[in-house]
Amino acid sequence: EVHLAYKVDIVVIGAGQAGLSSAYHLHELGLAPGRGYLVLDKAPAPGGAWQYRWPSLTLSTVNRVHDLPGMAFADVIDPGLTEVPASQAVPRYYEAYERKFELPVYRPVTVKVVCARGERFRVETDKETFSARGLINATGTWETPYIPDYPGRESFRGRQLHTRDYRTAEAFAGQRVLVVGGGISAVQILDEISRVTDTIWVTRSEPRFRDRPFTPEDGRAAVALVEDRVRRGLIPGSIVSVTGLPLTPALRAARERGVLARRPMFSAITPEGVRWADGQEEKVDVILWCTGFRSSLDHLAPLQIREDDGGIVMTGRLATEVARDPRIHLVGYGPSASTIGANRAGAAAARELTATLGIGGISAN
Ligand code: FAD
Repeated sequence: EVHLAYKVDIVVIGAGQAGLSSAYHLHELGLAPGRGYLVLDKAPAPGGAWQYRWPSLTLSTVNRVHDLPGMAFADVIDPGLTEVPASQAVPRYYEAYERKFELPVYRPVTVKVVCARGERFRVETDKETFSARGLINATGTWETPYIPDYPGRESFRGRQLHTRDYRTAEAFAGQRVLVVGGGISAVQILDEISRVTDTIWVTRSEPRFRDRPFTPEDGRAAVALVEDRVRRGLIPGSIVSVTGLPLTPALRAARERGVLARRPMFSAITPEGVRWADGQEEKVDVILWCTGFRSSLDHLAPLQIREDDGGIVMTGRLATEVARDPRIHLVGYGPSASTIGANRAGAAAARELTATLGIGGISAN
């Protein structure tokens, strides 16, 4: 039995902000949709991970969704509609975007594994197999929730969930909820749940709140730090650890309600709750792990792009190129893990990869 792989120059894996920006630039560089480049996406519909965000994450509570190149968010979604869930608005924008530029997005297709085959890559999916000369990986983090290991985790008789599973605060009414984590999602969800029930908040380090608004310089500094890390092959690390948590009016109110009285991490999980190193215990019904995500890169494991300690040495203008193999770009990884970063990184990756492969003629602006 012969399995013929579908041949394409560049496969883009993932159709979130990073994948769409990359696809736009490949299109601008003159690559033909289908044979020149193809986007494979696991999700059933346009929207990247945005389609899975919880309903109370609205356009007024997200940080900001940056425009994709060539078509403004405000052209599709009325900027006055601040209370619309991001899980509806962003997918609508991406859908219009894919249609406008006729981007060849093939879905739902899950990339299972990518192997190197001489001059080409073999991209195995739950549908066809593809053979590509270059890869732009833009699979984000949503598929890889991270929960740290604490002794006794399996013994807990209550409910444990991750940020990814959170829908509404009302679901927790009448229960005692322990929220773990010091990121933006953690404090937003803590704020919501604490309005309807009893909460406890634990974080590894003392959270730093910022009173003044986040400036573009702050953003650049945070990105520069992460960029420096990935160029040295280190694990990217969290942006909030650099920027601090913005004190929104909602968070100020939460602080006044006494909800932000943070406690240090517990040392063990018991059947009824958690225990700290000093012997103190708390009983809880729910442990909600708002402990973040990791880059979804397992399907690239056979390519051996990781160093021994798990980091990946990145190079190129915006650090999207894998130093061990310039035919592989990671967009939305490390310094480009934001909507604005993914946008810029998509342009850099498309240009550098087509140059590496010697394809595409028209230069994008
Ligand atoms: P995603 O949007 O996750 O897209 C990845 C795509 O790849 C998905 O469609 C997925 O189905 C697909 N995929 C994954 N694995 C495979 C596979 N094996 N095969 C095929 N397809 C696959 N950033 C901001 O700039 N502003 C914000 O306000 C903001 N708010 C955020 C709120 C939350 C709760 C979270 C978790 C993140 C937020 N971010 C925000 C960060 C945000 O995730 C990024 O900015 C950006 O949207 C990520 O885009 P992406 O394209 O890298 O990933």
